[in-house]
Amino acid sequence: MSDCLFCKIVEKKLPAKIVHEDADTVAFEDLNPQAPTHVLIVPRKHVPTMVDLAPEDDALVGKLFRAGAAIAKARGIDGPGYRVVMNHNRDAGQTVFHIHLHVLGGRRMGWPPG
Ligand code: AMP
Ligand code: ZN
Repeated sequence: MSDCLFCKIVEKKLPAKIVHEDADTVAFEDLNPQAPTHVLIVPRKHVPTMVDLAPEDDALVGKLFRAGAAIAKARGIDGPGYRVVMNHNRDAGQTVFHIHLHVLGGRRMGWPPG
């Protein structure tokens, strides 16, 4: 998608602090971090929202979570704990319509989310 912010980051047409990438996913630092670790993991494939996921994307979703776990382990936040979030549409606060897993950690977080 030519007008998608995260496609542009995937294609390296827009700068980002990339922390991990493989054949299917790219992870980069959130521009406006909400915790000491705040990384976004996106599929290279443009999928606008969770409801656009197709059966053939099942393995891709697993890869997003496994990339999150690898980043959490590398940063030592797997022990204390970390949170993954994927927002969907307005009420959850989705602002970029290319699915992304937020990986947040390095501080205590409240529940329920605001
Ligand atoms: P969401 O509100 O779940 O759609 O999350 C979008 C996230 O993307 C927010 O946490 C933003 O801070 C982050 N963001 C927006 N633009 C960029 C960018 N150019 N590079 C990195 N993160 C970004
Ligand atoms: Zn996209």
